[in-house]
Amino acid sequence: MKKTFIVANWKSNMTTLEANNWLQEISNFQFPISNKEIIVCPPFTLLWDIRSYLSKHNFPIKIGAQDVSPFDQGAYTGEINGKQLKEFVEFVIVGHSERRINFNEDNNILEEKVEMARKYSILPIFCIQDKNTQIPKSVEVVAYEPVFAIGTGTPDTPENAEQVAKYVKENARIKTVLYGGSVTPKNVKKFTQVSTIDGVLVGGASLYAQEFLAIIKNA
Ligand code: PEP
Repeated sequence: MKKTFIVANWKSNMTTLEANNWLQEISNFQFPISNKEIIVCPPFTLLWDIRSYLSKHNFPIKIGAQDVSPFDQGAYTGEINGKQLKEFVEFVIVGHSERRINFNEDNNILEEKVEMARKYSILPIFCIQDKNTQIPKSVEVVAYEPVFAIGTGTPDTPENAEQVAKYVKENARIKTVLYGGSVTPKNVKKFTQVSTIDGVLVGGASLYAQEFLAIIKNA
């Protein structure tokens, strides 16, 4: 059975205490999620705690990182490399518009990040901002995240997201396309019911356990 992806991007938010409260709220809830692939992408500082909590409680959430170094291990002060990440994560977000804009990440560096993730068998979730965004060759999972929709409360239309998903599946051989940008419990179904959209990437709403649970439930 094909699973619907629900990916939480916490960005630069959450302390250990806040993350622990979130995990407790999430794991108290009981509903069938066997048809959903739930992935939480916390900041690096929380990877250890989250991995420990999830494995201790045998809770079916996978972990992703929000970034990976374009370099392998070595003299790269401040960087977290693929080999280190592989101890914690199965996925990594690459190409988010916030990194392209705030950290000047260009197509070359993003391709290096994708290659480094693949080298350590981490699956990149590659963000594109429109249908013409360059997608590195080895990418399998894309998240369509138009900049105007991120954190604004103004999502794209499901019809437009459907067109973009269809286009990248046909033209870039992408198997899995997610939609991201102002997803809420109210609008999530409008995206996940589109046949070319395989799930959602959720920013702001994923920080609140109850909101995220409602998104999982309604997706
Ligand atoms: C994001 O930044 O990946 C995102 C989808 O943000 P939001 O849900 O807050 O629009």
